[in-house]
Amino acid sequence: MKAKVLLLIILAFFLSSSLTTPTYFSELGKFVILVHDVSPAYISQIERLASIINEYGLQEKTYLFVIPNHGGGMPIEKDKRFMDLLENLSSWGYHIELHGYTHVGREFKCSREEALSKIELGIKIVKAEYFIPPRYAISAGAREVVLANNLTVIERFYLYSPEGMVYPILNREYTWRISKILYTYQFSRAASAYKNTKGTFFLSLHPTVVDNPEGVKFLHEFFKIVREDLG
Ligand SMILES: [Zn+2]
Repeated sequence: MKAKVLLLIILAFFLSSSLTTPTYFSELGKFVILVHDVSPAYISQIERLASIINEYGLQEKTYLFVIPNHGGGMPIEKDKRFMDLLENLSSWGYHIELHGYTHVGREFKCSREEALSKIELGIKIVKAEYFIPPRYAISAGAREVVLANNLTVIERFYLYSPEGMVYPILNREYTWRISKILYTYQFSRAASAYKNTKGTFFLSLHPTVVDNPEGVKFLHEFFKIVREDLG
């Protein structure tokens, strides 16, 4: 009995350690920023976030995941201010990618047909290479459709390539509702994870991070570490 328990503990250790060994992607490098929910609803936040990212010269490390029609009532192609902003950001080195279509509920937990019509509408407007399903929710059929359209799918624990490969990753986010009380804990957790991660470090952010003083403080302190490390 004892041996069985020990075996289970050893097995659990190996399983968890294999989960925390994220892949290194040479095309992405050591560090990337994934900005979720890039939509006209957060235009001023995106501008402020980009100015912080620019300060540390991390534009080319930043992937902006755009919602083509947020809530079903914000078609970006009809919003000149937003389209101009995307064009500017792209000319500064930011990557423009896709984050669902309307972002309503778990919209990509759907049939192949529904996924195909949304992806076709999305790639008409955004020439993306990467796709993050809203709320990381996607059905197997929808994922196949996205991959078949030559998009790499980034989820919380895995990255799926159109070539049919699946790679373990860790998609980290520290600033979601970060508070004064949580700040020190979250920052030291992030700094030590960055230092100890051998694979590509994925930092996920939401635009509203800049509405929160602790969020802004986190970005400055964390980007400073990254900048010093990347040289
Ligand atoms: Zn989202």
